[in-house]
Amino acid sequence: MTAKLIDGKARAARLRGDVREAVSALKAGQGVMPGLAVVLVGEDPASQVYVANKVRQTEECGMRSIEHRLPADTPEAELLDLVARLNADPEVDGILVQMPLPSQIDTDKVVLAIDPAKDVDGLHPTNAGRIVLGRPGLVPCTPKGCVMLAREAHGGDLSGLDAVVLGRSILVGKPVALLLQNANCTVTMAHSRTRDIAELCRRADILVAAVGRPQMVRGDWVKPGATVIDVGINRVPAPERGEGKTRLVGDVAFDEAVKVAGAITPVPGGVGPMTIACLLANTVQAACARRGLPAPAL
Ligand code: NAP
Repeated sequence: MTAKLIDGKARAARLRGDVREAVSALKAGQGVMPGLAVVLVGEDPASQVYVANKVRQTEECGMRSIEHRLPADTPEAELLDLVARLNADPEVDGILVQMPLPSQIDTDKVVLAIDPAKDVDGLHPTNAGRIVLGRPGLVPCTPKGCVMLAREAHGGDLSGLDAVVLGRSILVGKPVALLLQNANCTVTMAHSRTRDIAELCRRADILVAAVGRPQMVRGDWVKPGATVIDVGINRVPAPERGEGKTRLVGDVAFDEAVKVAGAITPVPGGVGPMTIACLLANTVQAACARRGLPAPAL
């Protein structure tokens, strides 16, 4: 058996199309143009690429992009002051402060300072609490993308499926597990202290790997026909490509798992492309919620 590939690039493109349509409808119907403010502190090269992609895709979807670039030595108080101004700015619907932040800045303080109604990264405790309560709120982007891809493989309904989530981080594992539970899966969350993890994984109809360990999940950990969502992004040496070359691999040994699973996300091209698309969807949802408008189905 060879698993069906879950094409994250195509799903993300479809979601961006839905966002564009929702933005057009908002502009035509209510005269609303959603705005996303992105704040970058310092010159981390990877963060610069992420921010450039976020700005470009925001504009391509017809939304306003507001960019703030601050020097690496920006004092914490100055960043908190900027966040307060963005909170108060009626033109701003979403605020994203690019992580990681320089060491003089307390990341938790910054996250807490963001108005939960504009917290399009879904990291504020108020939004985390809403997921726990199963109430509508802004959902973290990568976990939201994981569940969309799982639905893609199952025709939408995940009710009653056994899900195992490897990893319990605040950014990925925990919210993915809660979202799957809210989608009526029976969820087990595993972590570095879990015993007999391979046996546990073999029970999963949906297996989500978010551990940051290259190719940890082997083919014989996968239940035949299961859906495998690989969140991992790991750079490993690739001497076959030439001296000093590297390549990206996931947390799943793809070549083995693809022979056993029913559906699987590739790395790259699976969960990765969903993250920014979900950020755009969250911005539109925040713009609607702040104005008391019905949330578009995104
Ligand atoms: P993290 O904060 O380092 O958390 C890793 C989790 O995996 C922890 O809960 C840890 O358990 C668990 N773990 C580590 N080693 C394990 C082992 N041998 N067996 C079982 N569990 C183990 O990482 P993260 O931020 O959640 O990210 C996970 C992966 O997703 C990384 O590769 C990251 O690059 C990737 N990622 C991708 C995207 C995307 O857009 N596609 C976004 C975010 C992250 P303990 O809690 O017990 O320590």
